[in-house]
Amino acid sequence: MIEIDGSKGEGGGQVVRNACALALVTGTPFRITNVRGGREKPGLMRQHVTAIEAACAIGGAECEGLTVGASAVTFRPGPVAPGEYHFAVGTAGSTGLVLQTVLMPLAISNAPSRLVLEGGTHNMLAPPFDFIARSFLPIIDRMGPTVTARLVRPGFYPRGGGRIEVDITPAPLRSIDCLDRGAPLTRSALAMFAAIPPGVADREIATAKKLLADWSEEAFAVRELPESQGPGNILLLEAAFEQVTEVVSGFGKLGVSAERVAQTAAARMAGYLASDAFAGPYLADQLLLPFALAGGGSFTTVKPSQHSLTAAAVIELFLEKRCVFTQQPSGTHLVEVR
Ligand code: AMP
Repeated sequence: MIEIDGSKGEGGGQVVRNACALALVTGTPFRITNVRGGREKPGLMRQHVTAIEAACAIGGAECEGLTVGASAVTFRPGPVAPGEYHFAVGTAGSTGLVLQTVLMPLAISNAPSRLVLEGGTHNMLAPPFDFIARSFLPIIDRMGPTVTARLVRPGFYPRGGGRIEVDITPAPLRSIDCLDRGAPLTRSALAMFAAIPPGVADREIATAKKLLADWSEEAFAVRELPESQGPGNILLLEAAFEQVTEVVSGFGKLGVSAERVAQTAAARMAGYLASDAFAGPYLADQLLLPFALAGGGSFTTVKPSQHSLTAAAVIELFLEKRCVFTQQPSGTHLVEVR
């Protein structure tokens, strides 16, 4: 039984999700205490409970203490059973984070799976659907498994109601090296909104245009979603290269100006474009689990985030793998899984 102190390092939900995935793949049970101990409101939230329930469902696992607010749970994995699953986060909790929990065990299992996930699809502090589909999954595909994700209906906080469908054709994971982005291909900026004044999205785009002055006029677009899918708003900035696509987001929120949303997203994109690293900070922490399960590989990233360092520490508890971060002369970091 592996003992995890959930307040260590980043101290958030990712510790729990990675531990569930690793337990399912290795068959090793774990007990986690001080769950999300690094967060203002510690303990399991609804979306973490759904993620663990999903892990139990696909992995014949048992989990003691699984309730909203719990600060400790014990997780005993069974055999992973690929198949068709439907998981609904009862709130606007992130579908992407539920996917993060169950994807890798299913992607290296012995038969295809189909997931229907309902909840939020464009949440703050979680990977938006567009990031999963265009930044994260293409790398998983390159490693062997084929995973396709469709956005059936967007869901924003607080209403939720979004739906994504994911098809997984498993394959053994190959270790790969992702050191270069390759040549730049396209740039795009999309302000999506539902049931809020359209002027907000227009202002986001106007600000983004000023800040990304070398992006062409055609790169910028506004998309209005049906009223029933709102209220909600996100600005997605995307830079596609031959080898990788970075998707950064600015989340519209009551009390935060459209200009501020655009500035946040543009600053993130500028940070990525100013470096020559393969992976931005979010992609980096999410690649560590598949790379470790592949048994090796490397990628370059901007500065390692607390999420990355914490993911590396959780991986070391379950696998005889180390994630080594080495700063390069250019300022980027090389991440090697050994
Ligand atoms: P935690 O904060 O521990 O619940 O983990 C959040 C997870 O969501 C991490 O894997 C982050 O990389 C990911 N994440 C948070 N915000 C974004 C974003 N804007 N784009 C992509 N991934 C994100």
